[in-house]
Parts: sequence; C-alpha cells; structure tokens
Amino acid sequence: MTGADRSLDAVVVGAGFAGLYMLHRLRRLGLSARVFERGGGVGGTWYWNRYPGARCDVESLEYSYQFSAALQQEWRWTERYSTQPEILRYANHVADRFSLRPDIEFNTRVASAGYDEAAGRWLVYTDRGQRISARFLIMATGCLSAANTPDFKGIDRFRGETFHTGDWPHEEVDFHGKRVGVIGTGSSAIQSIPVIAEQAAHLTVFQRTPNYSVPAGNGPLDRALEREIKADYAGFRARNKLMPVGFGSRHPRREDSALAVSEEERQRRYEEYWRLGGLLFMGAFADLGVNAAANATAAEFIRRKIHQIVKDPQTAELLCPDNVVGCKRLCADTGYFAAFNRSNVRLVDVSQRPIDEITSLGLKAAGEEHRLDCIVFATGFDAMTGALLRVDIRGRGGERLQDKWRAGPRAYLGLAAAGFPNLFLITGPGSPSVLSNMLPSIEQHVDFIADCLTHMRGVGHQTIEAQQAAEDDWVQTVNNIAAGTLYPTCNSWYLGANVPGKPRVFMPYLGFPAYVAKCEQVAAEGYEGFAFAG
Ligand code: FAD
Ligand code: NAP
Repeated sequence: MTGADRSLDAVVVGAGFAGLYMLHRLRRLGLSARVFERGGGVGGTWYWNRYPGARCDVESLEYSYQFSAALQQEWRWTERYSTQPEILRYANHVADRFSLRPDIEFNTRVASAGYDEAAGRWLVYTDRGQRISARFLIMATGCLSAANTPDFKGIDRFRGETFHTGDWPHEEVDFHGKRVGVIGTGSSAIQSIPVIAEQAAHLTVFQRTPNYSVPAGNGPLDRALEREIKADYAGFRARNKLMPVGFGSRHPRREDSALAVSEEERQRRYEEYWRLGGLLFMGAFADLGVNAAANATAAEFIRRKIHQIVKDPQTAELLCPDNVVGCKRLCADTGYFAAFNRSNVRLVDVSQRPIDEITSLGLKAAGEEHRLDCIVFATGFDAMTGALLRVDIRGRGGERLQDKWRAGPRAYLGLAAAGFPNLFLITGPGSPSVLSNMLPSIEQHVDFIADCLTHMRGVGHQTIEAQQAAEDDWVQTVNNIAAGTLYPTCNSWYLGANVPGKPRVFMPYLGFPAYVAKCEQVAAEGYEGFAFAG
C-alpha cells in the first residue's frame, strides 16, 4: 500500500441504491469498506433529480429493495408511482436502518484509480487528496448520473437562471411570474413540463424529437393491493423476476402479435393497456419490440390519442413522433400533452435547425429570439458509460478504461472488464440495467459480487479478472440480441446517440430472466469466464 493513507478491503464509488446495498453486503461479509459519494447525501438519482414532477415510472411496490423482508413490510409508499422526495426519504431510511452512514464519505468524488499489479491492489484517489489502497474497487456510479448539457453557443452569456433536471438545486425553485424555457422532451421534461406550466407566467418548450408518452395513471396507493402484495411479497418478487423487464407480473403480458388480431380487438387491447398506464403499455402485444409493422399500429394509436388530447392540430402534429414506440424509452406522464392546451405554453420545433444560440436575454431558435428568465436543460445524461469514464481508471499495465472503451464499452456480463482485475461494475454496460426494473437488477449484481467474494475467500483467491474471450463473446451476444429488435432504429441514449462523438453501440442487455440464469450458471460453474489468481 505504497503511499496510501488508508487500506481497505473494498472501495465503493457512489451512494445510490447500488452503493448502499453493496456496503451492507460487504459489511455482512466482515470486510472493511468505504463508500465515496460526490453528493452531500445518499440516494443517487433521487438526490440529484429534484426537478418538479420527478417520480418513478416503475410502481413503488416493485421499485424498492427486496433484500430485507422486514424493510419491505414496514415501508409504506403513499402513491402508485412515488415522488422524488418520498423515494429520497426511503433511501435515507435504508441508510439509517442499516447504520450505513458511518462508512460513507459525502462530498467526495473519486477522481482516479490505478491497479498496482505487484501489490494486487487498487490505489484510489479522491478530489479531497485522499489516497486509499483497496483490494476491490466497486463502481456503483449509476447509469444515469452524468448530466449532459450540450455545448450551446453563448451558454455562459445568459443573465437569467439555468437548471439541469439531473442536478437540480436543493432550495425551492419558484417559477411563478417567470418566463421559462425547457430544452428537451424526454422523460424528465415530460414529467416537469406540466408542473412548470402551472407555475410559470409563460413556458416555451424546445423540442428536437417528439416522444411517445402514456399517462402513468398515478394516484394514491391502493391499500388493498398493498396488503395483498405484502401477504406474499416473496412470491410477488419471484414472479416479477420472470418478467422480461423484471416487473409488471400483475398485468398480463400478451403472447399474441398485434397483426394477428382484428382491428377492433387491436384498438380494444391498446385502450386497455393505455389505461394500465406508462411502461405497461408495451405489454399489449408480444411483438411490439421486434416487428416494425406491429409497432406501427401502436404508434398510430398513440398519435391518435395525442390528436384527441391536444386541441391545436398543428401543435398536436408537432408532438407526434414518427419513430418506433419504445425505441427511445417510453415516457410515463401526468398531464403532459394536455399542458400544451394552456394559453401560457408554446411548443417550438427545433428539429430542422438546431438551437442557434443562447443570448444574454434568452434563446435564439428557428430565427426567433425567445426572451426567458430561466432555462431548464432537460437534456439527459451521458448514459451508462459517462460516470465510469469521468473517473480515470487504469488497469493492468496502466491501460486506461477510456482507451479500452474508445470504440464502445466492453465488459463481461456488464460486471467486469478484462485487464482490470478486482474491479466490479454494478449495472455496467452489457447488463439489463436500464432495460429492467433497476432495483432488482442492482440487488442481483450486488448479490453476485458478494457471493463471488465469498467464493474467493473460501478458495483463497486474491484476484478475479474477466477473461478476454468471455468478454468478447458477451459483447457479441449483447449486440446480437439488440440487432434482432427495433432498438437500433432510432437515435437513443441506449446507443449513446445523444452525446456527440460517442460511439454508437447498444449498451444494455435485453432480457432480465435470461441474464439472471446466465449469471447463476457462471457462478455454478466456478465463475466461468473469469480467471482467478493468488
Ligand atoms: P445512482 O442513483 O445514479 O447513484 C450513483 C451515485 O454515484 C450518484 O449519487 C453519484 O453522485 C455517485 N458518483 C458517480 N460518480 C462518482 C465519483 N466519481 N465519485 C463519487 N461519487 C460518484 N429506474 C427504474 O428502474 N425505475 C424508475 O422509475 C426510474 N426512474 C428514474 C428517474 C430519473 C429521473 C432518473 C434519472 C433515473 C431513473 N431510473 C429509474 C434509473 C435510476 O438511475 C436507477 O433506478 C437507480 O436509482 C440507480 O441507482 P444507482 O445506485 O445504480 O445509481
Ligand atoms: P433524455 O431522454 O435523453 O431526453 C433528453 C432530451 O433533450 C431529448 O428530448 C433530446 O432530444 C433533448 N436534447 C438533447 N440535446 C439537445 C440539443 N442539443 N438540442 C435540443 N434538444 C436536445 O433525458 P431524460 O429526459 O433526462 O431521461 C433520461 C432517462 O432517465 C430516461 O429515459 C429514463 O430512463 C430516466 N428517467 C426516468 C423518469 C421516470 O419517468 N421515472 C424520469 C426522468 C428520467 P433528442 O431526442 O432529439 O436527442
């Protein structure tokens, strides 16, 4: 541990849901561990994304931890889809209930980490000048935690206030009486626009690509349903584990094709799934993700809904996407399209010509200057790789992760990278992560890592490393699966297409149950695809 201030079994980076549970498991294994978190509190996503209207789009009874039966019994959600403040309270409750805080260092960013081959240890550097030696480095840095603000010309000139949805102030932001501009129409914008519209004197929405959105159908949590689920929570979780996306087992996912039923039945089915709300809409037919003609019928249904909701036909038309439903993440809203019926809301199309520039008084787009007091960047994230690559990670022979991933991320099972021994990625690229209910995916990864460390201790191994061939095969598998779907047909952040210059590679693994089965098989076969030493 040359030059280190401190020596630990494990360093965990990030105190979101992944980092919290990882710390809990490491402690129970009797390992010394410390979590470094750049924010001032726990909760990750729910610590940073405090924008008005922020809430989950997977039902709270499912978007929650299951590792502690007592925790899942005692916690009471108030809404079907809980708000950001409530989810943040939950994260804080977990941190307190399991006494995690003493091992978390807040306001501390991990800046770099290098693997010392001779010592078989990581040397981790923080932005506060600490140097920590650790056997294991576990990145719990999040898939959607590196906010992306496009490099708009004149951005520093603006005299009003600017906000990014993914880095929202902790103090109350009051838009009353203000002229507000929102750039973007992804999930964050779609949740915040109806709320901002109610407060602001005027709201201008700058839209580059319209998005499909289905009303979430949110409301107070049905207490009878809560009792029913809590009576057999384990069974409910087990059924969800068999769902392709790890949630939604209460609602039938249909096995038939959208093209195999009559027009009347198709419309009836879409109405039924529209009422179920949000992401559950995609379960209406089995082939919406793989058959373009089937998907087109869903697209047409949603476009008709938009035209029914939005009174001005021109605005309605502008809000209608023409790509594949679900290709970009389907949004779940509360009053999004209806917000455009308000007299204080205006939609500006920036699809044909990019936003010209930000001026001292507002924003120039489509040849017009829009005077604004506030600009909200709802422009998303450098997803899946951003937070990892913002840390200078160097593996064997000083190889930088940035270099290894120059043509796109490469990781075995999305968990480990060849050339980087004893480094684990929680929900890394190549794992179901963002294409699943992330809480069970996080727990599955944490459990895999904890079990692996237990195995290593039992056998007396010092290091574990993904084998190059296994990694190559896995990257190919992830690509092959995606190629058989409609996902690669649009410019989504799943493909890195939202960040200029980012390699176009489909990053998540599609299919939660198959992935879990693969991980179980890998572990059962002595961690096939990994090499151990020491
Ligand atoms: P995060 O919560 O992102 O936490 C990572 C933490 O690491 C952050 O606090 C960050 O500050 C810290 N960090 C990063 N780099 C460093 C560094 N170098 N040094 C120190 N600290 C660092 N998923 C769902 O399944 N369902 C939903 O309904 C849902 N809703 C979402 C809504 C929003 C607005 C967003 C942005 C995402 C949503 N997600 C949802 C995805 C969500 O990110 C995950 O569900 C989950 O919260 C991720 O937890 P995590 O711990 O892996 O990462
Ligand atoms: P996003 O989906 O990437 O949306 C970003 C928006 O900004 C897009 O409309 C994009 O347009 C626009 N944009 C980016 N750069 C632009 C530019 N230079 N000029 C004009 N417009 C630009 O980001 P997000 O809304 O923050 O959501 C990210 C993910 O977080 C979601 O997909 C979801 O997984 C998660 N999330 C979930 C919820 C929830 O409901 N629980 C809420 C928020 C976020 P283009 O489409 O043209 O690129």
